[in-house]
Amino acid sequence: MTPRQIEFRIKRIKRELMKLGPMRPGALSMQYAACQKSGCACMDPVKPKKHGPFYQLSYSHLGKSTTRFVRPNYAGPIKKELATYKRFRELTQEWVTQELALSQLRLDLARRKDDEK
Ligand SMILES: [Zn+2]
Repeated sequence: MTPRQIEFRIKRIKRELMKLGPMRPGALSMQYAACQKSGCACMDPVKPKKHGPFYQLSYSHLGKSTTRFVRPNYAGPIKKELATYKRFRELTQEWVTQELALSQLRLDLARRKDDEK
Protein backbone atom coordinates (compact mmCIF):
# COMPACT_ATOMS: atom_id res chain seq x y z
CA MET A 1 0.00 0.00 0.00
CA THR A 2 1.19 3.47 -0.82
CA PRO A 3 0.51 6.51 1.39
CA ARG A 4 -1.83 7.70 -1.35
CA GLN A 5 -3.92 4.52 -1.21
CA ILE A 6 -4.18 4.73 2.55
CA GLU A 7 -5.16 8.39 2.39
CA PHE A 8 -7.88 7.45 -0.07
CA ARG A 9 -9.22 4.82 2.33
CA ILE A 10 -9.24 7.31 5.19
CA LYS A 11 -11.16 9.77 3.06
CA ARG A 12 -13.79 7.10 2.37
CA ILE A 13 -14.09 6.28 6.09
CA LYS A 14 -14.59 9.95 6.97
CA ARG A 15 -17.21 10.31 4.28
CA GLU A 16 -19.16 7.33 5.62
CA LEU A 17 -18.89 8.65 9.18
CA MET A 18 -20.43 11.94 8.12
CA LYS A 19 -23.47 10.09 6.79
CA LEU A 20 -24.28 8.24 10.01
CA GLY A 21 -27.64 9.05 11.57
CA PRO A 22 -28.82 8.88 15.19
CA MET A 23 -26.94 6.38 17.33
CA ARG A 24 -26.45 5.15 20.84
CA PRO A 25 -24.26 2.55 22.49
CA GLY A 26 -25.63 -0.50 24.20
CA ALA A 27 -27.55 -3.72 23.77
CA LEU A 28 -31.24 -4.48 23.75
CA SER A 29 -32.58 -7.63 25.37
CA MET A 30 -36.06 -9.07 25.64
CA GLN A 31 -37.39 -10.15 28.99
CA TYR A 32 -40.48 -11.88 30.34
CA ALA A 33 -41.50 -11.43 33.94
CA ALA A 34 -43.93 -12.67 36.57
CA CYS A 35 -45.84 -10.00 38.53
CA GLN A 36 -46.02 -12.24 41.61
CA LYS A 37 -49.76 -11.62 42.13
CA SER A 38 -51.47 -14.82 43.15
CA GLY A 39 -54.09 -15.96 40.66
CA CYS A 40 -52.43 -14.20 37.74
CA ALA A 41 -51.72 -16.31 34.66
CA CYS A 42 -48.00 -15.61 35.11
CA MET A 43 -48.05 -17.50 38.43
CA ASP A 44 -49.69 -20.66 37.05
CA PRO A 45 -47.65 -23.54 38.51
CA VAL A 46 -48.17 -25.75 35.45
CA LYS A 47 -48.07 -23.41 32.46
CA PRO A 48 -47.14 -19.91 33.58
CA LYS A 49 -47.85 -17.21 31.02
CA LYS A 50 -45.38 -14.50 31.89
CA HIS A 51 -45.83 -10.82 31.10
CA GLY A 52 -43.93 -9.23 28.30
CA PRO A 53 -41.93 -8.98 26.28
CA PHE A 54 -40.18 -6.11 27.99
CA TYR A 55 -37.28 -4.56 26.20
CA GLN A 56 -34.32 -3.80 28.36
CA LEU A 57 -31.62 -1.48 27.14
CA SER A 58 -28.18 -1.69 28.74
CA TYR A 59 -25.30 0.59 27.98
CA SER A 60 -22.29 2.15 29.54
CA HIS A 61 -20.97 5.61 28.89
CA LEU A 62 -18.13 7.51 30.58
CA GLY A 63 -17.60 4.54 32.84
CA LYS A 64 -21.18 4.43 34.07
CA SER A 65 -23.46 1.47 33.33
CA THR A 66 -27.18 2.00 32.93
CA THR A 67 -30.11 -0.30 32.29
CA ARG A 68 -33.58 0.89 31.45
CA PHE A 69 -36.81 -0.41 30.02
CA VAL A 70 -37.90 0.59 26.56
CA ARG A 71 -41.47 0.57 25.27
CA PRO A 72 -42.03 -2.10 22.59
CA ASN A 73 -42.84 0.49 19.92
CA TYR A 74 -39.41 2.09 20.47
CA ALA A 75 -37.54 -1.20 20.10
CA GLY A 76 -37.30 -0.79 16.32
CA PRO A 77 -35.78 2.70 16.29
CA ILE A 78 -33.48 1.82 19.18
CA LYS A 79 -32.20 -1.24 17.33
CA LYS A 80 -31.37 1.01 14.40
CA GLU A 81 -29.48 3.44 16.65
CA LEU A 82 -27.54 0.57 18.22
CA ALA A 83 -26.59 -0.73 14.76
CA THR A 84 -25.47 2.76 13.72
CA TYR A 85 -23.27 3.04 16.81
CA LYS A 86 -21.72 -0.33 15.98
CA ARG A 87 -20.88 0.94 12.52
CA PHE A 88 -19.48 4.14 14.04
CA ARG A 89 -17.15 2.08 16.21
CA GLU A 90 -16.06 -0.09 13.28
CA LEU A 91 -15.32 2.94 11.16
CA THR A 92 -13.37 4.84 13.83
CA GLN A 93 -11.37 1.70 14.62
CA GLU A 94 -10.59 1.25 10.93
CA TRP A 95 -9.66 4.93 10.72
CA VAL A 96 -7.11 4.53 13.52
CA THR A 97 -5.78 1.35 11.91
CA GLN A 98 -5.24 3.19 8.64
CA GLU A 99 -3.67 6.22 10.36
CA LEU A 100 -1.24 3.93 12.16
CA ALA A 101 -0.32 2.24 8.90
CA LEU A 102 0.13 5.61 7.22
CA SER A 103 2.28 7.00 10.00
CA GLN A 104 4.44 3.88 10.05
CA LEU A 105 4.80 3.93 6.30
CA ARG A 106 5.98 7.55 6.41
CA LEU A 107 8.54 6.69 9.07
CA ASP A 108 9.78 3.74 7.01
CA LEU A 109 10.01 5.83 3.84
CA ALA A 110 11.96 8.57 5.65
CA ARG A 111 14.36 6.00 7.11
CA ARG A 112 14.90 4.44 3.69
CA LYS A 113 15.66 7.87 2.24
CA ASP A 114 18.20 8.55 5.00
CA ASP A 115 19.85 5.17 4.43
CA GLU A 116 20.31 5.95 0.75
CA LYS A 117 22.39 9.03 1.54
ZN1 LIG B 1 -48.89 -11.58 36.43
